[in-house]
Amino acid sequence: MDSYFSDDYAEARGKFLAAAEISGAHLLQLEHPLKGPGGEALGTDIVFLGPRDARNIVVAGSATHGIEGFCGSGCQTGFLRENWAARLNSDTALVLVHANNPYGFAHQRRVNEDNIDLNRNFIDFKAGRPDSHGYAELHPSLVPETWDGPAREKADAAIETFKQRAGLKQFQQITSRGQYEFPDGLFYGGSEPSWSRRTIEDFARKCLSSAARVALVDFHTGLGPRGYGEIIGRGGPGDQQYERTCAWYGDEVKSAAVGNSASVRLNGTIDFGYRRACPKAEITAITLEFGTRPLEEVHEAIRADNWLYAKGGADNSPCFKTIKEQVRAAFYGEDSQWKEDIWVRGQEIVEQALAGVNG
Ligand SMILES: [Zn+2]
Repeated sequence: MDSYFSDDYAEARGKFLAAAEISGAHLLQLEHPLKGPGGEALGTDIVFLGPRDARNIVVAGSATHGIEGFCGSGCQTGFLRENWAARLNSDTALVLVHANNPYGFAHQRRVNEDNIDLNRNFIDFKAGRPDSHGYAELHPSLVPETWDGPAREKADAAIETFKQRAGLKQFQQITSRGQYEFPDGLFYGGSEPSWSRRTIEDFARKCLSSAARVALVDFHTGLGPRGYGEIIGRGGPGDQQYERTCAWYGDEVKSAAVGNSASVRLNGTIDFGYRRACPKAEITAITLEFGTRPLEEVHEAIRADNWLYAKGGADNSPCFKTIKEQVRAAFYGEDSQWKEDIWVRGQEIVEQALAGVNG
């Protein structure tokens, strides 16, 4: 099981493609225009297990947040190596979307090539950009000019004061909901559809058009207790999708709208893309969120990584190695126990999703 997981994007992609080839499943490769840090090619690779015209489809996706892809990629390779195609009935498909954000995965960043948080990029840009809900006030402190010295100390003090006044949950809500005003800031949703969004919506329009029911399971890391996979549904009691999510996955379903999730309410998540691309399908989307490190540590790693590329000169910075290690620890558990927890839970949830789309 350990061998399903990898140390970098190239290895993860290699394992996924090798397992796909052995399985004989249909493979779609969508090449990204840029390269990885070692000059390697990048792409979103999609494997269809089961009939391509199935009416019931489970889409299991990884690396919407780049570096978080170590987790989902491991499970996707596991589904191939353990021949999950054999579990599907004649009207059901399991579609594995490997690396929604391959650039971020390869460069071990949460964001994409344009500093966009892909899971905030699926808004309707024609409807105008959402209000940034207090983010603007915090932006100068979240992105200080320097990572050491007085500017950083002042910024940290301002953040601490804000947390004391508003509480950690409100701080999380304001900073991470998704903002559309500061391209060099945190949780930036972009000003137009990104390469990844266009690629995903295009694939879904072309390849999922036969679907009557689509279950989305998007693998993420960084929130909640270490190794635990929180099922984050959409909406709340009374919403059809939310009620269906609870019926499929049981009591452990959480929701930001209900207020019991490790996540807060977000703008422009990936499920809106699938909804746009497959308007006739009944879509039941969850984020499967695996914990790594405590929330404030994860948030600080996101802030550090953002500073590194926005102000620090990226790999020319003396802080490069330290910050990249900090980011990796925030989004990848690495130890065998964590990988085991992810694989056990990943199988359980995708099994439930398959049962769900089958009614
Ligand atoms: Zn994520």
